[in-house]
Amino acid sequence: MAQLKPGVVTGKDYLTLVAAAKAGGYALPAVNVSSSSTINAVLEAAAKNQADVIIQLSNGGAQFYAGQGMKDSFKAKVLGAVSAALHTHLLAEHYGVCVVLHTDHANKGLIPWVDALLDHGEAYFKQYGKPLFSSHMLDLSEESMEFNLDECARVLKRMAPLNMSLEIELGVTGGEEDGIGSELEESADNSHLYTQPEDVLQAYDRLSPIGHFSVAASFGNVHGVYKPGNVQLRPEILKNSQALIEKQHKTAAKPLNLVFHGGSGSEKDKITEAVSYGVFKMNIDTDLQFAYSEAIGKFVTENPKAFLYQVDPETDKPYKKFYDPRKYLRLAEQNMVARLNEAFEDLGSKGKSLAL
Ligand SMILES: [Zn+2]
Repeated sequence: MAQLKPGVVTGKDYLTLVAAAKAGGYALPAVNVSSSSTINAVLEAAAKNQADVIIQLSNGGAQFYAGQGMKDSFKAKVLGAVSAALHTHLLAEHYGVCVVLHTDHANKGLIPWVDALLDHGEAYFKQYGKPLFSSHMLDLSEESMEFNLDECARVLKRMAPLNMSLEIELGVTGGEEDGIGSELEESADNSHLYTQPEDVLQAYDRLSPIGHFSVAASFGNVHGVYKPGNVQLRPEILKNSQALIEKQHKTAAKPLNLVFHGGSGSEKDKITEAVSYGVFKMNIDTDLQFAYSEAIGKFVTENPKAFLYQVDPETDKPYKKFYDPRKYLRLAEQNMVARLNEAFEDLGSKGKSLAL
């Protein structure tokens, strides 16, 4: 088994990590973070499970990281992502696991965000000889195929010299995340939620000569957790896409690096099936947001007076040990770690860290 230095992995090491996951039949959870507390919880969970992990920021998560009080919200989205990346670069190696640093959905309006992150990435590369992020995502699935691939090609040309990878989206992931995505239509045919293998082939033809990329293909997956029954997961779409590229380009098995968006609330057998078709990354956000908040809600419910009084008006008991934010944020982190234990288990990546 290949071994890597612990810490943020980029370039060749990133490719090794992806290849090992696909060959080993497992995938890494990609966790949306928005604070140092959530980043640390992900690192803790990865270390505990001896598993490698993907840390990613949406534009909203990045903005929150910089502070929602920052006047220039675009600047906050850029600097928040940079700040979270620097935090992770500094700490990840000390947790003893490999970490992929990534940014989530950028639609047409957020292309300038990705370009600004690449400005920072190029400056960082000049100084340290490696990129700031392992990869970025462009989600132009709501635009024409031509615009989608033209922009992906342009951005990948900027990223390839930095040894970065690009995640693209073909077909529309249902549900909404940070205002990006489309509404689920109840009982509509939802055929736009399924990627066509021919589109994947077109993307492969266009992008593989330029650099490394991965594909978020839609197979009925949705962002968020909804009542079951609205959309049917059809992982065979992933299998058919792999088979088409294999045939057309005479490649080895599973030439595509596939990404599963909207992993929260998915049936376990569909997760396993999707991973077997070359999914190396599964995004999980909603379930972890709930785990984090659930622990805080429980603590407040059990200790209501500590959140009303600094000192109990009847017993004179001081409540500082309860309302100190570290107390309940730690409980939130621990519950997030517990939910992540399950994710590593489901994705088969527990105990599979490549870190030395
Ligand atoms: Zn997504």
